[in-house]
Amino acid sequence: MGIYVCEYSFKHPDPKDPTIALHEVDFYAWIPAKFHQLTPNHALSLRFRFANKHFEIYRRFSRPVEFYDKRMGILVQTSQDLGMEQVIYESEDLGEALAFANGEYLKFHGKKEPDVVCQHKYPHMSSWCDKGKA
Ligand SMILES: [Zn+2]
Repeated sequence: MGIYVCEYSFKHPDPKDPTIALHEVDFYAWIPAKFHQLTPNHALSLRFRFANKHFEIYRRFSRPVEFYDKRMGILVQTSQDLGMEQVIYESEDLGEALAFANGEYLKFHGKKEPDVVCQHKYPHMSSWCDKGKA
């Protein structure tokens, strides 16, 4: 089983950008190098926009960076955030947004258990679920 995502966990605004919810869901942090010529390296996440009540799946682009750490004597692989984002899917339906994100994961990282919508009832429940705890 993947993770459970609860629609009720997106209630509180992000203090840095009150147009979106503070709670976000991250699906992956990078894509393998073999894809970089077709699709720039990026992280994939879900967020909620209050104005239209849409769940957005968005890419945040970064550049892979490698450098040799002389002191440690090792090659360090990291990434540099390019400060650019792109919404690639949006829906009022959390299940549809998760299905799209599951497809993106499959495309770049292969098969895993899909992330699904919270049923607000243990054990089919997100740890962020307010409704199930009440
Ligand atoms: Zn829930």
